[in-house]
Amino acid sequence: MLPSKPQGFMTFTRETPPDLPVEERLKHYNEFSTSLPPEKIREQAYRCMNCGIPFCHSGCPLGNQIPDFNELVKDEDWQEALRVLHSTNNFPEFTGRVCPAPCETACVLGINEPAVTIEMLEKEIVERGWREGWIAAEPAAEKTGKRVAIIGSGPAGLAAAQQLARAGHAVVVYERSDEPGGLLTYGIPAFKLEKRVVFRRLEQMKAEGVEFRCNSEVGKNVPVSELEGYDAILAATGSTVGRTFAGMNVPGSELKGIHLAMEFLPQQTRRVLGKPVKEAEILATGKNVIVIGGGDTGSDCVGTSLRQGCKSLVNLELMPKPPVERDLDNPWPQWAFIHRTSSSHKEGGERRYSVLTKSFEDDGTGNVAALHTVNIEWSEPDDTGRRKMIEVPGTEQRIPAELVLLAMGFTQPETDTFVKDLGLELEKNRFGMGIKADQGYLTSRAKVFAAGDARRGQSLVVWAIQEGREAARSIDQYLMGHSYLSGRDSFGYDSLAKHTAAVS
Ligand SMILES: Cc1cc2nc3c(=O)[nH]c(=O)nc-3n(C[C@H](O)[C@H](O)[C@H](O)COP(=O)(O)OP(=O)(O)OC[C@H]3O[C@@H](n4cnc5c(N)ncnc54)[C@H](O)[C@@H]3O)c2cc1C
Ligand code: SF4
Repeated sequence: MLPSKPQGFMTFTRETPPDLPVEERLKHYNEFSTSLPPEKIREQAYRCMNCGIPFCHSGCPLGNQIPDFNELVKDEDWQEALRVLHSTNNFPEFTGRVCPAPCETACVLGINEPAVTIEMLEKEIVERGWREGWIAAEPAAEKTGKRVAIIGSGPAGLAAAQQLARAGHAVVVYERSDEPGGLLTYGIPAFKLEKRVVFRRLEQMKAEGVEFRCNSEVGKNVPVSELEGYDAILAATGSTVGRTFAGMNVPGSELKGIHLAMEFLPQQTRRVLGKPVKEAEILATGKNVIVIGGGDTGSDCVGTSLRQGCKSLVNLELMPKPPVERDLDNPWPQWAFIHRTSSSHKEGGERRYSVLTKSFEDDGTGNVAALHTVNIEWSEPDDTGRRKMIEVPGTEQRIPAELVLLAMGFTQPETDTFVKDLGLELEKNRFGMGIKADQGYLTSRAKVFAAGDARRGQSLVVWAIQEGREAARSIDQYLMGHSYLSGRDSFGYDSLAKHTAAVS
């Protein structure tokens, strides 16, 4: 029995469910997280202080109404908690698994205690919804007669498609891969996000009237002229051009055995799905592997290589090791720039920081045999705030590697497709270039909108969902003159219900 006073944060400590042991989970590609017993989940929800000003709202890009669903879980009204959760987030089962949870670093309890386990609660609520059969198709009561084409079926395209279909528009999603889902399907490995979880949601969307056309690359095997009959178009094609050593004067970077992460990871997902691998197989089995880049993509290469049975694994990062605690110039409730250990990093391999790649060594047959590196230090910032890399003499190293995976980020969307055909302008973002769009997600071309990584640069699933939802609202407004779809700044999770009432 939970105490009646709102003192959960003083009564219970933060608890998350244990993951399966490393030696067990490395044998397969399934998810390895477990669940707490129901009473423990309620205790965790009860830790929420239901603050007057819940900073977690602003920490979450979707504005998830976190204290509301925590309170409902505590009171065992799971179905209402699910409704509240879905009112701002179309796909809590994705964010509940792979979101880095910026909400938790903004949790008020986190100032002097471990934060509320928001992400875990999100996953528990939505999984309960699926188990109980509460999540069903919600087709629009009335059709508007408007047609929208969405290019790209990652989380941005999917969120936009679901919102627009529920607002009554006929939505067609063009996807160049053989399965929808974007990086949810072929980027993020199955051990972090099982593909049945993605396909289950796609079935709901199909039942709501969303049409998926796979193997359809707009600007290649689907000419842009096919889009002329649509009333609006959304480009949600991701930021797919991976950063390489091209132009960086790193000898040997063209050797065989050096691959982009996104050449390697999708192959393993295809194997997991029982699909043939079309290109030459890239496997870590029995090899010394180096992963260059320490972010999510690098970490996924680590987990996949370990599961494939690599001989050794080194993960290199150019930046210095982050601090264990927040720096003074990075206070709460900002995202905390601290050292994190991903589940894959817990599984094995060695992480090295402040390491610069100097050259790749040839084994004499055109294949990579080793990497030559040097440690670096960063100078104090100059007048423009820029720090310079300084090589540390005497720290040169040779690291053997028969497979090198590049996970150094993504610079921009591909432009030799519909982007060129439609003459869409690009603009600078944090990582390189993206499709230029105004605050309403409208590009430089009439009736063409852009959202997700294609616009903002490489980012997160939660931001892609947020941009997809916001772009959908803009498109709905553009088509109808108004929109009842809820958005980040409308704070109206009842808006869609009102819309349904208005049109029925
Ligand atoms: C390996 C990896 C792991 C990641 N892990 C995480 C994580 O753990 N947590 C997290 O929050 N974020 C993670 N991210 C980032 C996250 O996946 C992305 O930010 C998010 O998927 C972007 O969504 P999107 O819809 O904008 O684009 P994408 O998911 O990239 O989808 C774009 C889709 O458009 C399709 N497409 C492209 N061009 C065309 C065309 N011309 N015609 C038709 N279709 C086209 C592509 O095939 C793709 O399916 C990861 C990214 C990578 C690469
Ligand atoms: S979507 Fe991410 S940031 Fe938002 S509540 Fe869920 S875990 Fe937190």
